[in-house]
Order: sequence, then structure tokens, then C-alpha cells
Amino acid sequence: MTDIKSMTESQLADFFKGMGQPAFRARQVFTWLHRGVCSFDEMTDLSKPLRSQLAETCFITAPTVARKQTSRLDGTIKYLWELSDGNCIETVLMQYHHGNTVCISSQVGCRMGCAFCASTIAGKVRDLRPSELLDQVLFTQLDSGLPVSNIVLMGIGEPLDNMDNVLRFLELVNSPHGLNIGMRHISLSTCGVVPGIDALAEKQLQLTLSVSLHAPDSETRSRIMPVNRAYDVEELFAACHRYFRKTGRRISFEYAMIDGVNDHDWQAELIARKLKGMPGHVNLIPLNEVVESPYKPSKRVGAFQQKLESLGVTATVRRSLGGDIDASCGQLRRKEMMEKGHL
Ligand code: SAH
Repeated sequence: MTDIKSMTESQLADFFKGMGQPAFRARQVFTWLHRGVCSFDEMTDLSKPLRSQLAETCFITAPTVARKQTSRLDGTIKYLWELSDGNCIETVLMQYHHGNTVCISSQVGCRMGCAFCASTIAGKVRDLRPSELLDQVLFTQLDSGLPVSNIVLMGIGEPLDNMDNVLRFLELVNSPHGLNIGMRHISLSTCGVVPGIDALAEKQLQLTLSVSLHAPDSETRSRIMPVNRAYDVEELFAACHRYFRKTGRRISFEYAMIDGVNDHDWQAELIARKLKGMPGHVNLIPLNEVVESPYKPSKRVGAFQQKLESLGVTATVRRSLGGDIDASCGQLRRKEMMEKGHL
């Protein structure tokens, strides 16, 4: 069976050509799929025989809502979607003044092993397909009734560990006949997979690359992020400089502030030294406490921000949304798995 929603419009055109169908079928079907129809029978401008022919060879992905939590504090909605194979993933919808943003997952679980992150505790199950990436945006929009204008790939999983599917998804969501979300409205976050950063740079996309830095020195970074043992922070900074030279796009660095681990002034000084020659922006994140983790939120967020600013590095503190609904990083999926006795 073919996962028809994972196909781009030009792939669909080839597909229909192979079926002896006219080229305009691709546009028709693509438009229906990107409106979120769940069956070929809903495609009313196709003949009945064609609809049943498609249903015999293709399937249309459609996740179902396993859990949904709405924050009473700020309207943030967190979805736990159940996929066709029973796996669950999370998507979060945040309402900002500049528009509604969805934070989507890129994999079922994660194999990167960051010590402070709930998404990685049970490892990676599988990659998400382009259709399953897109569905998170489509069905969040349909279920909530809120139009989505921005996408961040900052949910469960490592996007650059699922590069081909993520690139295809970007093409799908960017399509003028689909959701038509501009690259400048999309951010992709990586824990620092250096070959992936270089490959992405080659594509010269206008999206915003976010790098989860969390420590500027190798000793600390290797302790909290195993990826640093494969691609160390010096190589990571070098890749970031290359990325900036190639794309001209400013990189955003995420930095979860952990008490006594990465919140020292000397680390702010090191960040400033490493970012010289590149317009970086540091996004300080108050650490979200994960029950299984020994790490505690830093009390020096403001002081660290001031230190960075005094050294000429722009730094902001991320406003925390959905604090009452387990809205961060794999916490809801984890809760569901524990309650169902999967862990
Ligand atoms: N794998 C990608 C994207 C997913 S995580 C990446 O690592 O960038 C999105 C962001 O949330 C990352 O910066 C991640 O390090 C951060 N994060 C994970 N657990 C956190 C926690 N407990 N508190 C604050 N930020 C956390």
C-alpha cells in the first residue's frame, strides 16, 4: 500500500501518469489530502471507479486523539495522537500574539539520550513519515479550529536523525496548494547532529535553525548530551559558522538553565567567545523538571542573561506556556505509557 499523503505534488503527477490519468488529478488529490480528508470517498470530484482504484492501492493516514489537554492558564493545547500502528506522539499548539504555533514531533521516541529530557527515556521506536509529520499540523488545525501560521520541529525526536522525511514534510507544508506555510515561519531544532547541519545548509532553506547548545564546554556538554561524544561542541560551533556563511540565516541557540551545571558566568563568557563572527541569539529556557532526572532549574537565569547581554550576545528568556498540562518534551506520552503499563 502507498502512503499517498507522503507524496509531493510532482510525485503524485508521476503516479497518476502511471495510472493513465490526466495530470490535473495530482492537484485535485493533493488539495483534498491537505484539507485533511480521511477517505477517497470524500474526494467528490473524482469518479467512483477511480476512488475505489485508489482505495485498493493507497491509504490515507489520519491520527486519532488519544488525549487532549487545554491549559487554563494560556489556552495552550497539547495533543497525544494515536497513529495507525498504535504508537503515540505529542503535538502542542501555542497561541502567541504573532500567530498560532504548532510544535510537532519528528520521531516516535528519541535515541539521543539527553539527560534532562523526558522524550528519550524509553529510546526511539521509529521515524515519522512525511504524512505523519504533516498530519500533526493538519489535524491540530482541524480539531482546534485555530489556524496555524508557524511550525516548530521541537517536539519528540531528533529531526536531523530523520532527515529525508523531514525535508519531504517541509516541501509538503510549504506547497502553495497545501498549507502554504512559508519557510520563514518554520523552525527546526537539533541537538547538534553535525553532518545533518551541513546537509541542511546545502539546501539553503529560509527556515530558522535552532541548536540545542545547553553547554559551551565539552566536559559539561558530554555529561548531559551524549551526542557531544560523537560531534563535540567545537565541531558543532564550526558547523554553525559554516551554516551561517552558507545560508546567511541567524542561528538560535537553546539553552536550558540547569542549577550548578551550565549556569556559571565563565560559561556565558565562553558562549560569547564561540559566537564571535556570527549573529547568534541565545534562548534561555527555565529547565522543566522531569521526575526521573536529578537536574534542577537554575536560579541564575536573569544573571546569566545579563552576563550574555553585557558581552554583546542577544539573549531572551523563553516564556513558559502550558505549565499545568505536562506540555513539555515527551511528558504526556510518558505519562500515558506509564499508565498503560508500557514502562
Ligand atoms: N531533538 C531536538 C528537538 C527536540 S527538543 C533538539 O534536541 O533540539 C526541544 C528542546 O527542548 C531542546 O532544546 C531540548 O534540549 C529541550 N528540552 C528537553 N528537555 C527539557 C527540559 N526538561 N527542560 C527544558 N528544555 C528541555
